[in-house]
Amino acid sequence: MTRPGFTDCLERVRENPDAAQEDLVFLLNNESPKEDALLFAAAADVRDRYCGARMVLRGLVEFSSYCGNTCHYCGLNRANGKAERYRLTPDEMVESARLVWDAGIHTIVLQAGEDGMPAETLADVISRIKSEHDMAITLSVGERPRADYARWKDAGADRYLLRVETTDPALYASLHDGRTVETRLACLDTLQELGYQTGSGFMVGPPGQTLDIIAQDIRFLAQREYDMIGIGPFIPHPETPLAHAKTGDLKLTLRTVALIRLTSRNAWLPATTALGSLDQDYRVDALRAGANVVMPNFSPADVKKKYEIYPGKRCVTEQTGACAGCMAGLALAAGLELDYSRADSLKRVPV
Ligand code: SF4
Repeated sequence: MTRPGFTDCLERVRENPDAAQEDLVFLLNNESPKEDALLFAAAADVRDRYCGARMVLRGLVEFSSYCGNTCHYCGLNRANGKAERYRLTPDEMVESARLVWDAGIHTIVLQAGEDGMPAETLADVISRIKSEHDMAITLSVGERPRADYARWKDAGADRYLLRVETTDPALYASLHDGRTVETRLACLDTLQELGYQTGSGFMVGPPGQTLDIIAQDIRFLAQREYDMIGIGPFIPHPETPLAHAKTGDLKLTLRTVALIRLTSRNAWLPATTALGSLDQDYRVDALRAGANVVMPNFSPADVKKKYEIYPGKRCVTEQTGACAGCMAGLALAAGLELDYSRADSLKRVPV
C-alpha cells in the first residue's frame, strides 16, 4: 500500500530536483515496503539516465589513523587512548597507489584523520603518484588552511572529500568540540573555488538528527552541486561519547541515498563501507537505491584494522587489494556494469 499523495509527491521530486522540504520529509517518513520499492526504483532510473548503469571503483588508502580532532562519533578521535595509531611513509603511500593502478583502477582516495602531516610531504606524494600513473587523486584529510589545499591542487590532486555532517548549527555543535559549521562550509567553498571536484555528505542517525534536518541537508547538497556525495549510517563506537547511542536506521539511510540521487542527479554516490558493516552487507541495496561507486580498500593489510572510525568495519582482514575481486559480484547483483575509469565529475558535462 502507498499513502494518499505518495505518487504525486514522488513525481514532484523526480521532476524537480529543487525539491520542497515538506516533500522530502514526507518521502523520508514512510514505513511501507511498497513505497520504498517505488522510491528506490525511481532513484536507480535517474542514476542510469544521468550517470549510466555502472558501478565505478575508487581505490581507498587510509594512510594515517592519527587525528587531532574530537568528533564524538569517531573512534579515531584524539581522546580515544585505545585507538591504534599508525602513519604510512611516503614510500608506502606511493606503493599503495601502484597496487591500485595494477588492479586496473584509475582513481586513488588518500584518506586520513587530521594528523597534521606537513602540506609539503603530502604534495610530494601526490607529485610522485602523478608522475608514475595517469590516475585521479582524491584527498580526504579534513579541515586545512587554504594554502594547503592550493598546494595540493598545484601538485596534481583532482578531488577532495569533506563531509559537512550537517548544516544544522546546533546539531553540528553537539557532535564536535570547538568546531563550527561555518568553518566547515568555508573549507568546502574554498575547495570548490580552487577547482577541486568536491565531495561532501553526512551520516544518518546520530543523536539529535531529525527528518527535517536530513531534508534540509539533502537540499543543501543539491544546491551546492557537489560532485560526490557520501551517505552512511551512524554506527556507535564503544570508545566515544556516543557509545550507547542507537545505530542509524538502515531503511532511512537507503531512503536518504535515493533522495540524494533524485535531487543531485549526476553526482557520484558511494555505497559506503558503513552500509556494508551493519548486521550484513547492504551495499547492493544502496546500489539498487541509486548509488554508483564502491571503494575497495587498498591500505596495507597490517594497518587496515587500525583505521577504526566505527566498529565492525567490513573487509579489514582480507589481504591488500583482495576486495577488488568482490566488486564484480556486487555490480552483477545490482545489475550494473563495472567501471574502472577515472570517472571524473559529471557536473560539467551536459546531460
Ligand atoms: S571523523 Fe575524521 S576528523 Fe573527526 S575524529 Fe574521526 S578521523 Fe578525526
